[in-house]
Amino acid sequence: MNEKSKLLAKIPAVHVLAERLAKSTPGLPKVFYTRTARLTTERLRKEIIEGRKASLSEEEVLRLAEGILAEESRPHLRPVVNATGVVVHTNLGRSPLAEEALEEIVAVARRYSNLEYRLSEGRRGSRYEHVVGLLRELTGAEEALVVNNNAAAVLITLNTLAKDKEVIVSRGELVEIGGSFRMPEVMAWAGCRLREVGTTNRTHLKDYEAAINENTALLMKVHRSNFAVVGFAKEVSGKELVELGRRYGIPVVEDLGSGCLVDFSRYGLRKEPTVQEIVRTGVEVVTFSGDKLLGAPQAGIIVGRKELVERIRQNPLNRALRIDKLTLAGLEATLRLYLDENLALERIPTLRMIFLSTEEAKRRAQRLKRMLVKASLPGFKFEVVPTVCRTGGGALPIADLDSFAVAVESEKFSPEELHEKLRTGDPPVVGRIEEDRFLLEVRTVFPEEFPLVVEAFRRLCENA
Ligand SMILES: *Cc1c(COP(=O)(O)O)cnc(C)c1O
Repeated sequence: MNEKSKLLAKIPAVHVLAERLAKSTPGLPKVFYTRTARLTTERLRKEIIEGRKASLSEEEVLRLAEGILAEESRPHLRPVVNATGVVVHTNLGRSPLAEEALEEIVAVARRYSNLEYRLSEGRRGSRYEHVVGLLRELTGAEEALVVNNNAAAVLITLNTLAKDKEVIVSRGELVEIGGSFRMPEVMAWAGCRLREVGTTNRTHLKDYEAAINENTALLMKVHRSNFAVVGFAKEVSGKELVELGRRYGIPVVEDLGSGCLVDFSRYGLRKEPTVQEIVRTGVEVVTFSGDKLLGAPQAGIIVGRKELVERIRQNPLNRALRIDKLTLAGLEATLRLYLDENLALERIPTLRMIFLSTEEAKRRAQRLKRMLVKASLPGFKFEVVPTVCRTGGGALPIADLDSFAVAVESEKFSPEELHEKLRTGDPPVVGRIEEDRFLLEVRTVFPEEFPLVVEAFRRLCENA
């Protein structure tokens, strides 16, 4: 027998290894042990055949299998450390929730609730009642409705108010929000005909007016969530559109995308139109997301004129786009925080991260660096560097936040390798690479997560 054959013969049978695993890590469904045993033996066989293994002990096989088992038996959807600096990161779950929201969600999820039951009258109620009052109060709108997400809000609004009719939109506002949400396609799905007016960079009021005909159902404005038109540009304000619409008896809807309730410009950040301001301009229906700048769970919020919102609520499509009770619980708790703006800024993680001062970001980066240095990780160098972060998630498209990060230099790994190792490690840490450097942005990392980052590096060193 040659060396390889000898080693291959040492690989235990799948059922034997599965039994050993069940003894060493008891309490899991059987399928995890057999699957892990299979994956382990396959991996060992491959390594031996490729000549990457010179020896094999029973102990080593079990350790490897235990590592694989830990990965296999973990929930697939799980928390990660967001060290990208993008605050509203769609791929990483957008908005982490405030404690108040989490408590409400758990309370309502654990037991029965008055979701659609009026306690005072002992009869059927509406699930929307829990947030409509708050939304009216906070936005100044007459009526409100919540659905599954903002894409649904736009879809149902268009379908209700403009099915088989025309909707006039500026060519400069036909946005695509991450692949699957493209305004022209949403129009088509809603059963409306898109009537584009103006040019990419300039649209005038007279362009809208010239396009109005007996089939026009709506004038629409779409917030440029993820891009900006600069230079020789002109757009028509919601207010002007409302005046035009009133003259012809055509309502104006605005898809605000992010939906912010706090005037950022009051705190020295770039101006982002607030929902209240848009409502005040007289726009008849406004739609926005729950989990972008609002910092609530995923939801689509529709506010506006009573009669129109009521029609949207009664659209049969609403049953399919219905908001779920956990979302409602988290949304109500988050909206309640907005009743006191200071409380909102203090308690809602998304807002806290956006409003984190550059000086505080620097202090945090220094603290994280100290913790990493103290962990005596061999072959790594850490340095605090100034950076620029994005708000992300279709909010403040070109507004950058000055920040600080910990740049990591490794003797052993390239920035790409480091990125990959940390992403796939435990706990997963997602950073970013800039100018051939791997960065850990601290703006989006909760200080409570700093020990997790250190832990991730420690494991990386152990497994390397
Ligand atoms: C984000 C966004 C949407 C989609 O909202 P979701 O809540 O992700 O469904 C629609 N329109 C605009 C302008 C957006 O920015």
